[in-house]
Amino acid sequence: QYLERIQEVDPKVHAFLEITAERARFDASRIDELRSKGVLLPPLAGIPIAIKDNICTKGIRTTCSSRMLEAFIPPYESTVTEKLWKAGAILLGKTNLDEFAMGSSTETSAFGATANPWNLTRVPGGSSGGSAAAVASEECVASLGSDTGGSIRQPAAFCGLVGLKPTYGRVSRWGLVAFASSLDQIGSFTHTVADAAELLHVIAGEDYKDATCLKVSVPNYQSILQKSISGLRIGLIKECFDPNGLDPQVASAVNKAASHLESLGCELVEISCPQFNYGIATYYIIAPSEASANLARYDGMKYGYRAEGVENLATITSQSRAQGFGSEVQRRILIGTYALSAGYVDAYYKKAQQVRTLIRRDFDAAFAKVDVLLTPTVPSTAFLAGAHTDDPLQMYLSDLLTIPANLAGLPAINIPCGFDDTGLPIGMQLIGNVLEESRILQVAHHYE
Ligand code: GLN
Repeated sequence: QYLERIQEVDPKVHAFLEITAERARFDASRIDELRSKGVLLPPLAGIPIAIKDNICTKGIRTTCSSRMLEAFIPPYESTVTEKLWKAGAILLGKTNLDEFAMGSSTETSAFGATANPWNLTRVPGGSSGGSAAAVASEECVASLGSDTGGSIRQPAAFCGLVGLKPTYGRVSRWGLVAFASSLDQIGSFTHTVADAAELLHVIAGEDYKDATCLKVSVPNYQSILQKSISGLRIGLIKECFDPNGLDPQVASAVNKAASHLESLGCELVEISCPQFNYGIATYYIIAPSEASANLARYDGMKYGYRAEGVENLATITSQSRAQGFGSEVQRRILIGTYALSAGYVDAYYKKAQQVRTLIRRDFDAAFAKVDVLLTPTVPSTAFLAGAHTDDPLQMYLSDLLTIPANLAGLPAINIPCGFDDTGLPIGMQLIGNVLEESRILQVAHHYE
Protein backbone atom coordinates (compact mmCIF):
# COMPACT_ATOMS: atom_id res chain seq x y z
CA GLN A 1 0.00 0.00 0.00
CA TYR A 2 2.79 2.44 0.93
CA LEU A 3 4.80 1.52 -2.17
CA GLU A 4 1.73 2.31 -4.28
CA ARG A 5 1.31 5.60 -2.49
CA ILE A 6 4.96 6.46 -3.26
CA GLN A 7 4.38 5.71 -6.96
CA GLU A 8 1.36 7.97 -6.88
CA VAL A 9 2.65 11.05 -5.05
CA ASP A 10 6.44 11.03 -5.15
CA PRO A 11 6.71 12.27 -8.75
CA LYS A 12 5.22 15.51 -7.36
CA VAL A 13 6.79 15.60 -3.87
CA HIS A 14 10.21 14.06 -4.60
CA ALA A 15 10.83 12.96 -1.03
CA PHE A 16 12.79 9.87 -2.07
CA LEU A 17 16.17 9.53 -3.75
CA GLU A 18 15.92 5.76 -3.84
CA ILE A 19 13.02 3.38 -3.26
CA THR A 20 13.92 -0.07 -1.98
CA ALA A 21 10.71 -1.78 -3.15
CA GLU A 22 12.06 -5.26 -3.68
CA ARG A 23 13.71 -5.46 -0.28
CA ALA A 24 10.59 -3.99 1.35
CA ARG A 25 8.30 -6.62 -0.21
CA PHE A 26 10.70 -9.39 0.78
CA ASP A 27 11.02 -8.21 4.40
CA ALA A 28 7.27 -7.68 4.72
CA SER A 29 6.49 -11.15 3.43
CA ARG A 30 8.94 -12.65 5.94
CA ILE A 31 7.11 -10.87 8.74
CA ASP A 32 3.77 -12.17 7.42
CA GLU A 33 5.25 -15.63 7.41
CA LEU A 34 6.45 -15.35 11.02
CA ARG A 35 3.09 -13.94 12.07
CA SER A 36 1.23 -16.83 10.45
CA LYS A 37 3.42 -19.24 12.43
CA GLY A 38 2.43 -17.47 15.63
CA VAL A 39 5.99 -16.26 16.36
CA LEU A 40 6.22 -13.39 18.85
CA LEU A 41 7.10 -10.35 16.72
CA PRO A 42 9.47 -7.48 17.61
CA PRO A 43 8.01 -4.02 18.45
CA LEU A 44 8.21 -2.43 14.98
CA ALA A 45 7.38 -5.54 12.94
CA GLY A 46 6.15 -4.49 9.51
CA ILE A 47 6.34 -0.72 10.10
CA PRO A 48 7.40 1.02 6.85
CA ILE A 49 10.13 3.55 7.48
CA ALA A 50 12.21 5.94 5.37
CA ILE A 51 15.79 6.98 6.20
CA LYS A 52 17.53 10.26 5.48
CA ASP A 53 20.24 9.69 2.90
CA ASN A 54 23.09 10.73 5.19
CA ILE A 55 22.58 7.64 7.38
CA CYS A 56 24.58 4.66 6.13
CA THR A 57 22.68 1.61 4.97
CA LYS A 58 24.83 -1.38 4.06
CA GLY A 59 24.66 -2.21 0.36
CA ILE A 60 22.29 0.69 -0.36
CA ARG A 61 23.56 3.93 -1.84
CA THR A 62 24.01 6.75 0.70
CA THR A 63 24.63 9.96 -1.20
CA CYS A 64 24.12 12.86 1.27
CA SER A 65 22.44 14.43 -1.81
CA SER A 66 25.93 15.22 -3.10
CA ARG A 67 27.71 14.48 -6.37
CA MET A 68 30.64 13.67 -4.10
CA LEU A 69 28.92 10.52 -2.81
CA GLU A 70 26.65 9.83 -5.78
CA ALA A 71 28.08 6.34 -6.21
CA PHE A 72 28.88 5.56 -2.57
CA ILE A 73 27.57 2.23 -1.29
CA PRO A 74 28.40 1.86 2.41
CA PRO A 75 30.03 -1.43 3.39
CA TYR A 76 28.49 -1.16 6.87
CA GLU A 77 25.19 -0.37 8.58
CA SER A 78 24.58 2.57 10.92
CA THR A 79 23.71 1.68 14.52
CA VAL A 80 20.25 3.29 14.34
CA THR A 81 19.19 1.41 11.21
CA GLU A 82 20.63 -1.84 12.52
CA LYS A 83 18.43 -1.41 15.59
CA LEU A 84 15.39 -0.60 13.43
CA TRP A 85 15.76 -3.72 11.26
CA LYS A 86 16.25 -5.86 14.36
CA ALA A 87 13.00 -4.39 15.71
CA GLY A 88 11.23 -5.48 12.52
CA ALA A 89 10.92 -2.12 10.73
CA ILE A 90 10.89 -2.18 6.95
CA LEU A 91 13.01 0.14 4.81
CA LEU A 92 11.03 1.81 2.03
CA GLY A 93 13.84 4.00 0.79
CA LYS A 94 16.34 6.81 1.30
CA THR A 95 15.15 10.40 1.48
CA ASN A 96 16.32 13.68 0.03
CA LEU A 97 18.19 16.34 2.05
CA ASP A 98 20.16 19.52 1.61
CA GLU A 99 23.64 18.54 0.44
CA PHE A 100 25.50 17.11 3.46
CA ALA A 101 22.59 18.37 5.64
CA MET A 102 23.62 22.00 5.08
CA GLY A 103 20.50 24.04 4.52
CA SER A 104 16.95 24.76 5.63
CA SER A 105 14.86 24.02 2.55
CA THR A 106 16.13 20.82 0.84
CA GLU A 107 16.93 23.00 -2.17
CA THR A 108 20.71 22.47 -2.06
CA SER A 109 20.32 18.75 -2.92
CA ALA A 110 22.35 17.87 -6.00
CA PHE A 111 19.44 15.67 -7.11
CA GLY A 112 16.59 18.20 -7.19
CA ALA A 113 14.45 19.83 -4.51
CA THR A 114 11.62 18.29 -2.44
CA ALA A 115 8.21 19.99 -2.30
CA ASN A 116 6.03 20.59 0.76
CA PRO A 117 3.07 18.17 0.56
CA TRP A 118 0.75 20.80 2.11
CA ASN A 119 1.42 23.19 -0.76
CA LEU A 120 3.76 22.15 -3.55
CA THR A 121 4.96 25.71 -4.18
CA ARG A 122 6.46 25.81 -0.66
CA VAL A 123 9.64 24.22 0.70
CA PRO A 124 9.33 21.31 3.16
CA GLY A 125 12.09 22.82 5.29
CA GLY A 126 15.47 21.23 5.73
CA SER A 127 17.83 19.73 5.82
CA SER A 128 15.72 16.58 6.47
CA GLY A 129 13.01 17.82 4.07
CA GLY A 130 12.67 14.47 2.28
CA SER A 131 12.11 12.58 5.54
CA ALA A 132 9.49 15.13 6.63
CA ALA A 133 7.69 15.22 3.28
CA ALA A 134 7.61 11.40 3.10
CA VAL A 135 5.72 11.16 6.41
CA ALA A 136 3.49 14.18 5.74
CA SER A 137 2.38 12.75 2.38
CA GLU A 138 1.69 9.31 3.91
CA GLU A 139 4.47 7.67 1.88
CA CYS A 140 5.70 5.96 5.07
CA VAL A 141 4.66 5.71 8.72
CA ALA A 142 7.76 7.33 10.16
CA SER A 143 11.24 8.39 9.15
CA LEU A 144 14.64 9.22 10.59
CA GLY A 145 16.46 12.49 10.07
CA SER A 146 19.44 14.28 11.59
CA ASP A 147 19.40 17.58 13.45
CA THR A 148 22.54 19.71 13.70
CA GLY A 149 20.89 23.11 14.01
CA GLY A 150 17.20 22.37 13.54
CA SER A 151 17.07 19.98 10.59
CA ILE A 152 14.40 17.77 12.19
CA ARG A 153 12.33 20.33 14.10
CA GLN A 154 12.17 22.99 11.37
CA PRO A 155 10.92 20.63 8.59
CA ALA A 156 8.56 19.00 11.13
CA ALA A 157 7.11 22.47 11.81
CA PHE A 158 6.77 23.22 8.07
CA CYS A 159 5.13 19.83 7.39
CA GLY A 160 2.84 19.57 10.43
CA LEU A 161 4.63 16.64 12.12
CA VAL A 162 6.09 15.59 15.44
CA GLY A 163 9.87 15.96 15.08
CA LEU A 164 12.16 14.86 17.90
CA LYS A 165 15.83 15.73 18.39
CA PRO A 166 17.11 13.73 21.36
CA THR A 167 19.83 14.82 23.81
CA TYR A 168 23.30 14.88 22.24
CA GLY A 169 24.66 11.38 22.93
CA ARG A 170 21.27 9.76 23.59
CA VAL A 171 21.36 8.09 20.16
CA SER A 172 24.46 6.69 18.49
CA ARG A 173 25.88 8.65 15.57
CA TRP A 174 27.76 5.62 14.22
CA GLY A 175 27.05 5.56 10.49
CA LEU A 176 25.66 9.09 10.33
CA VAL A 177 27.82 10.97 7.82
CA ALA A 178 29.44 13.66 9.95
CA PHE A 179 28.57 17.33 9.40
CA ALA A 180 29.34 19.02 12.75
CA SER A 181 30.20 16.25 15.17
CA SER A 182 29.55 18.16 18.41
CA LEU A 183 26.04 19.13 17.25
CA ASP A 184 24.76 16.26 15.05
CA GLN A 185 22.03 14.05 16.48
CA ILE A 186 19.68 11.52 14.88
CA GLY A 187 15.93 11.70 15.57
CA SER A 188 12.51 10.95 14.13
CA PHE A 189 9.52 12.27 12.20
CA THR A 190 6.13 10.82 13.15
CA HIS A 191 2.46 11.76 13.18
CA THR A 192 2.08 11.19 16.92
CA VAL A 193 4.10 11.64 20.10
CA ALA A 194 3.45 8.00 21.06
CA ASP A 195 5.15 6.90 17.82
CA ALA A 196 8.12 9.19 18.55
CA ALA A 197 8.41 7.62 22.03
CA GLU A 198 8.33 4.12 20.55
CA LEU A 199 10.99 4.90 17.95
CA LEU A 200 13.26 6.60 20.46
CA HIS A 201 13.04 3.56 22.70
CA VAL A 202 14.29 1.43 19.80
CA ILE A 203 17.13 3.66 18.53
CA ALA A 204 18.49 5.10 21.82
CA GLY A 205 21.18 3.65 24.05
CA GLU A 206 24.90 3.23 24.48
CA ASP A 207 27.10 2.14 21.62
CA TYR A 208 30.78 1.33 21.88
CA LYS A 209 31.21 2.44 18.25
CA ASP A 210 30.42 6.09 19.14
CA ALA A 211 32.56 7.49 21.95
CA THR A 212 30.14 10.38 22.53
CA CYS A 213 27.15 8.07 22.96
CA LEU A 214 26.04 8.16 26.60
CA LYS A 215 26.23 5.08 28.80
CA VAL A 216 22.86 5.49 30.49
CA SER A 217 19.84 3.22 30.50
CA VAL A 218 16.89 3.95 28.23
CA PRO A 219 13.60 4.55 30.05
CA ASN A 220 10.30 3.13 28.88
CA TYR A 221 9.06 6.38 27.34
CA GLN A 222 5.71 4.90 26.40
CA SER A 223 4.69 4.32 30.03
CA ILE A 224 5.66 7.86 31.05
CA LEU A 225 3.41 9.52 28.44
CA GLN A 226 0.22 9.06 30.43
CA LYS A 227 1.55 10.60 33.65
CA SER A 228 -0.22 13.78 34.67
CA ILE A 229 1.40 17.09 33.72
CA SER A 230 -0.51 19.01 36.35
CA GLY A 231 1.83 21.27 38.30
CA LEU A 232 4.65 21.20 35.74
CA ARG A 233 6.29 24.56 35.18
CA ILE A 234 6.61 25.67 31.57
CA GLY A 235 9.01 28.48 30.77
CA LEU A 236 8.23 30.84 27.90
CA ILE A 237 11.54 32.25 26.65
CA LYS A 238 10.75 35.91 26.15
CA GLU A 239 13.56 36.51 23.60
CA CYS A 240 11.89 33.93 21.31
CA PHE A 241 8.64 35.89 21.19
CA ASP A 242 10.25 39.15 20.02
CA PRO A 243 7.70 40.53 17.52
CA ASN A 244 10.62 41.70 15.40
CA GLY A 245 10.88 38.98 12.75
CA LEU A 246 8.24 36.68 14.26
CA ASP A 247 5.14 36.06 12.11
CA PRO A 248 2.18 37.26 14.24
CA GLN A 249 0.17 34.18 13.24
CA VAL A 250 2.94 31.94 14.60
CA ALA A 251 3.11 33.97 17.82
CA SER A 252 -0.63 33.78 18.33
CA ALA A 253 -0.81 29.98 17.70
CA VAL A 254 2.03 29.31 20.16
CA ASN A 255 0.51 31.62 22.81
CA LYS A 256 -2.79 29.79 22.39
CA ALA A 257 -0.99 26.47 22.86
CA ALA A 258 0.62 27.83 26.04
CA SER A 259 -2.82 28.80 27.41
CA HIS A 260 -4.07 25.32 26.60
CA LEU A 261 -1.21 23.80 28.60
CA GLU A 262 -2.13 26.15 31.44
CA SER A 263 -5.71 24.87 31.31
CA LEU A 264 -4.27 21.33 31.67
CA GLY A 265 -2.73 22.36 34.99
CA CYS A 266 0.72 23.60 33.98
CA GLU A 267 2.14 26.80 35.38
CA LEU A 268 3.47 29.31 32.83
CA VAL A 269 6.61 31.20 33.80
CA GLU A 270 8.33 33.93 31.80
CA ILE A 271 12.04 33.21 31.37
CA SER A 272 14.83 35.31 29.92
CA CYS A 273 17.74 33.75 28.00
CA PRO A 274 19.69 36.85 26.93
CA GLN A 275 22.45 34.93 25.09
CA PHE A 276 19.95 33.31 22.74
CA ASN A 277 20.32 36.07 20.22
CA TYR A 278 23.95 35.04 19.68
CA GLY A 279 22.95 31.47 18.74
CA ILE A 280 23.07 31.90 14.96
CA ALA A 281 26.39 33.76 14.97
CA THR A 282 27.91 31.13 17.28
CA TYR A 283 26.55 28.22 15.25
CA TYR A 284 27.81 29.60 11.94
CA ILE A 285 31.36 29.58 13.29
CA ILE A 286 31.27 26.22 15.10
CA ALA A 287 29.29 24.18 12.54
CA PRO A 288 31.36 25.25 9.48
CA SER A 289 34.60 24.78 11.46
CA GLU A 290 33.72 21.20 12.30
CA ALA A 291 32.38 20.65 8.77
CA SER A 292 35.62 21.87 7.21
CA ALA A 293 37.53 19.25 9.20
CA ASN A 294 34.99 16.46 8.62
CA LEU A 295 34.75 17.08 4.89
CA ALA A 296 38.53 16.99 4.43
CA ARG A 297 38.17 13.22 3.92
CA TYR A 298 36.61 13.75 0.47
CA ASP A 299 39.90 14.16 -1.33
CA GLY A 300 39.15 12.32 -4.57
CA MET A 301 41.56 9.57 -3.49
CA LYS A 302 40.06 7.15 -1.00
CA TYR A 303 36.41 7.14 -2.01
CA GLY A 304 33.76 9.43 -3.43
CA TYR A 305 33.87 11.47 -6.61
CA ARG A 306 37.12 11.82 -8.53
CA ALA A 307 37.52 14.39 -11.30
CA GLU A 308 38.41 12.93 -14.66
CA GLY A 309 41.17 13.97 -17.04
CA VAL A 310 43.26 15.59 -14.33
CA GLU A 311 46.99 15.80 -15.05
CA ASN A 312 48.66 15.79 -11.66
CA LEU A 313 48.19 14.64 -8.09
CA ALA A 314 47.56 18.06 -6.55
CA THR A 315 44.74 18.94 -8.91
CA ILE A 316 42.95 15.60 -8.39
CA THR A 317 41.92 16.81 -4.94
CA SER A 318 41.13 20.40 -5.83
CA GLN A 319 39.22 19.50 -9.01
CA SER A 320 37.31 16.65 -7.34
CA ARG A 321 36.22 18.96 -4.53
CA ALA A 322 35.38 21.84 -6.87
CA GLN A 323 33.22 19.58 -9.03
CA GLY A 324 31.86 17.24 -6.34
CA PHE A 325 30.64 19.81 -3.78
CA GLY A 326 27.84 22.30 -4.37
CA SER A 327 28.18 26.00 -3.56
CA GLU A 328 26.66 25.92 -0.04
CA VAL A 329 29.04 23.13 1.01
CA GLN A 330 31.98 25.05 -0.45
CA ARG A 331 30.87 28.19 1.39
CA ARG A 332 30.83 26.29 4.70
CA ILE A 333 34.26 24.76 4.08
CA LEU A 334 35.70 28.21 3.30
CA ILE A 335 34.15 29.83 6.40
CA GLY A 336 35.28 26.96 8.62
CA THR A 337 38.82 26.84 7.27
CA TYR A 338 39.10 30.60 7.75
CA ALA A 339 37.70 30.52 11.31
CA LEU A 340 40.17 27.78 12.28
CA SER A 341 43.24 29.29 10.64
CA ALA A 342 46.18 30.48 12.74
CA GLY A 343 45.64 34.12 13.61
CA TYR A 344 41.83 33.87 13.52
CA VAL A 345 41.14 30.82 15.65
CA ASP A 346 41.09 32.81 18.91
CA ALA A 347 38.98 35.63 17.53
CA TYR A 348 36.36 33.37 15.95
CA TYR A 349 36.39 29.70 16.92
CA LYS A 350 37.48 30.13 20.53
CA LYS A 351 35.12 33.08 21.02
CA ALA A 352 32.24 31.04 19.61
CA GLN A 353 33.00 28.21 22.04
CA GLN A 354 32.92 30.70 24.92
CA VAL A 355 29.54 32.07 23.82
CA ARG A 356 28.34 28.47 23.49
CA THR A 357 29.09 28.02 27.20
CA LEU A 358 27.15 31.19 28.02
CA ILE A 359 24.13 29.90 26.09
CA ARG A 360 24.39 26.64 28.02
CA ARG A 361 24.42 28.63 31.28
CA ASP A 362 21.23 30.47 30.24
CA PHE A 363 19.59 27.07 29.93
CA ASP A 364 20.98 25.92 33.30
CA ALA A 365 19.50 29.00 34.96
CA ALA A 366 16.18 28.44 33.20
CA PHE A 367 15.95 24.79 34.25
CA ALA A 368 16.54 25.81 37.87
CA LYS A 369 13.14 27.52 37.61
CA VAL A 370 11.07 25.43 35.16
CA ASP A 371 10.63 21.84 33.92
CA VAL A 372 10.42 22.48 30.18
CA LEU A 373 10.81 25.46 27.88
CA LEU A 374 8.35 26.50 25.19
CA THR A 375 9.10 28.56 22.05
CA PRO A 376 7.86 28.78 18.47
CA THR A 377 9.91 26.31 16.39
CA VAL A 378 10.42 28.60 13.39
CA PRO A 379 9.63 32.34 13.14
CA SER A 380 7.51 31.74 9.99
CA THR A 381 5.55 29.05 8.18
CA ALA A 382 6.96 27.28 5.09
CA PHE A 383 8.36 29.80 2.62
CA LEU A 384 8.08 29.73 -1.18
CA ALA A 385 10.57 27.58 -3.08
CA GLY A 386 13.36 29.82 -4.34
CA ALA A 387 12.57 32.60 -1.83
CA HIS A 388 15.94 32.47 -0.05
CA THR A 389 18.18 30.56 -2.47
CA ASP A 390 20.24 33.66 -3.30
CA ASP A 391 20.33 34.94 0.26
CA PRO A 392 22.14 32.57 2.62
CA LEU A 393 21.75 34.87 5.65
CA GLN A 394 17.97 34.88 5.28
CA MET A 395 18.05 31.09 4.96
CA TYR A 396 20.17 30.82 8.14
CA LEU A 397 17.59 32.85 10.12
CA SER A 398 15.13 29.99 9.75
CA ASP A 399 17.05 28.19 12.53
CA LEU A 400 17.10 31.10 14.97
CA LEU A 401 14.99 29.27 17.56
CA THR A 402 16.21 25.70 17.04
CA ILE A 403 20.00 26.22 17.13
CA PRO A 404 20.38 26.95 20.89
CA ALA A 405 19.23 23.42 21.85
CA ASN A 406 21.96 21.94 19.62
CA LEU A 407 24.64 24.23 21.04
CA ALA A 408 23.66 23.08 24.56
CA GLY A 409 23.06 19.42 23.54
CA LEU A 410 19.47 19.45 24.86
CA PRO A 411 16.48 17.37 23.71
CA ALA A 412 13.76 19.29 21.84
CA ILE A 413 10.62 18.44 19.96
CA ASN A 414 8.33 20.13 17.44
CA ILE A 415 4.58 19.74 17.96
CA PRO A 416 2.03 21.01 15.43
CA CYS A 417 -0.11 23.75 17.04
CA GLY A 418 -2.26 25.26 14.33
CA PHE A 419 -2.34 26.68 10.81
CA ASP A 420 -1.80 30.09 9.25
CA ASP A 421 -4.54 31.66 7.13
CA THR A 422 -3.20 29.96 3.99
CA GLY A 423 -3.55 26.54 5.60
CA LEU A 424 0.16 25.95 6.28
CA PRO A 425 1.08 24.20 9.55
CA ILE A 426 2.57 26.07 12.54
CA GLY A 427 4.81 24.33 15.07
CA MET A 428 5.87 24.94 18.65
CA GLN A 429 9.05 23.69 20.29
CA LEU A 430 9.44 22.12 23.72
CA ILE A 431 13.01 21.98 25.03
CA GLY A 432 13.96 19.71 27.94
CA ASN A 433 16.95 19.45 30.24
CA VAL A 434 19.73 16.95 29.45
CA LEU A 435 18.30 13.41 28.99
CA GLU A 436 14.80 14.58 29.87
CA GLU A 437 13.17 13.37 26.66
CA SER A 438 10.45 11.83 28.85
CA ARG A 439 9.37 15.25 30.10
CA ILE A 440 8.99 16.86 26.67
CA LEU A 441 7.29 13.76 25.27
CA GLN A 442 4.90 13.72 28.23
CA VAL A 443 3.91 17.39 27.84
CA ALA A 444 3.66 17.05 24.06
CA HIS A 445 1.46 13.95 24.39
CA HIS A 446 -0.98 15.72 26.70
CA TYR A 447 -1.10 18.74 24.39
CA GLU A 448 -1.68 16.69 21.24
N1 GLN B 1 19.93 24.75 8.61
C1 GLN B 1 21.08 24.54 9.45
C2 GLN B 1 22.31 24.52 8.58
O1 GLN B 1 22.20 24.76 7.43
C3 GLN B 1 20.93 23.27 10.22
C4 GLN B 1 21.15 22.07 9.41
C5 GLN B 1 21.00 20.79 10.19
O2 GLN B 1 20.46 20.77 11.30
N2 GLN B 1 21.55 19.73 9.61
O3 GLN B 1 23.38 24.26 9.01
